[in-house]
Amino acid sequence: MSKVCFASARAKKWKYEDSMPGKLEILLKEFHVSNYFEPREWVAVKTHFGSEGAHRIVRPIFLRKVVDALHSIGAKPFVTDTVRIKGLDYLEVANQNGINHLSVGAPVILADGLYGHDNLMVKAGEILGEIAVSSVIHDVPAMVVCSHIKGHIQAGYGGAIKNVAMGGVSSRHRDCGWKCGRGAMHTLGEGILSWDKEKCELCYQCMEICPLDVIKFVNEELQWDSNECWRCGRCERVCQSDALSLPGNDDRFMRSLAEAAKAVLSTFKANKVIYINFLTEIQPECDCMPVADVPVIQDQGIMISDDIVAIEQASVDFLLKAAPLPQSVIEEKSIVSGDDILLKLSEKPYHIQIEESERLGLGSRNYELIELA
Ligand code: SF4
Ligand code: SF4
Repeated sequence: MSKVCFASARAKKWKYEDSMPGKLEILLKEFHVSNYFEPREWVAVKTHFGSEGAHRIVRPIFLRKVVDALHSIGAKPFVTDTVRIKGLDYLEVANQNGINHLSVGAPVILADGLYGHDNLMVKAGEILGEIAVSSVIHDVPAMVVCSHIKGHIQAGYGGAIKNVAMGGVSSRHRDCGWKCGRGAMHTLGEGILSWDKEKCELCYQCMEICPLDVIKFVNEELQWDSNECWRCGRCERVCQSDALSLPGNDDRFMRSLAEAAKAVLSTFKANKVIYINFLTEIQPECDCMPVADVPVIQDQGIMISDDIVAIEQASVDFLLKAAPLPQSVIEEKSIVSGDDILLKLSEKPYHIQIEESERLGLGSRNYELIELA
């Protein structure tokens, strides 16, 4: 049975050891990171840099603690993420969200280059075939996956699987473009974006959120550049009038997340990746949206494990037991205690990504929870 170590977010004593950074230090020490990483070994600390306006990410103080723990055993860590918007802009987002070399104590780099197409094709599975894994994550021998737990408009739940799958893969490949990248998970076939003029309220949110500026409105008609579009799906997700749609399928999307995660993790030897889930500031949406709404579930704590499936199942089990937070979007959705909050928010079968990851051999949903702090 896989072990998941946990530290609660509650602070009951006025001591540093009872703070969240202090508890993370204890978790890292008790988990014996030296069992996984070697002196002088390069270790990627994979996180999500957030976006302009989405500040509820894994805070830099926590990344610093992870980096310090790796330095203490002589390893050489760096903090990284793949490009979500134009590379230079994404580094500036990281900086504005407090993630830079000075704050985290290690270099902060883009995992797939400034243009987001430094990657290698890796065998994935029945749905995706092959997928473009970022070159840095492909080549680095070891990784600590630091994931902010939250809801997600398409995945329902965003945790370690999504961080590894979407976050370890590029938006596009030099030769086969979006069809070999994240877009292959988001959409089907040619991924043609359809626009319903009758439903469109000309709010222009789709145009404003597009990371590539490939949506324009001319004489109140939407124009879209199919060749340049990454099929990231952001435009569809922010449209509150159902005027945009990319062809997709929830079941396929969840399973493709598991496949992509498997492809990314296949580039590592055994026992070279560990996972830290931060069940904090659990907001309804992905960290790549232009806002971070108020949390829908109270902070639960921090988990660490070497089993991606076990830590995801443990995280979800905590969320299922949690009460919905008042003064949040919960109230607009009439969600009450006992409900599956994330399921009711998104109406997406998020559990499939965990079940499929187990079926693909990435880990076990049976776990032992060890409360360390
Ligand atoms: S899917 Fe939409 S937001 Fe994403 S690149 Fe294409 S047009 Fe832009
Ligand atoms: S987000 Fe939707 S409603 Fe707003 S302009 Fe775009 S298509 Fe129209």
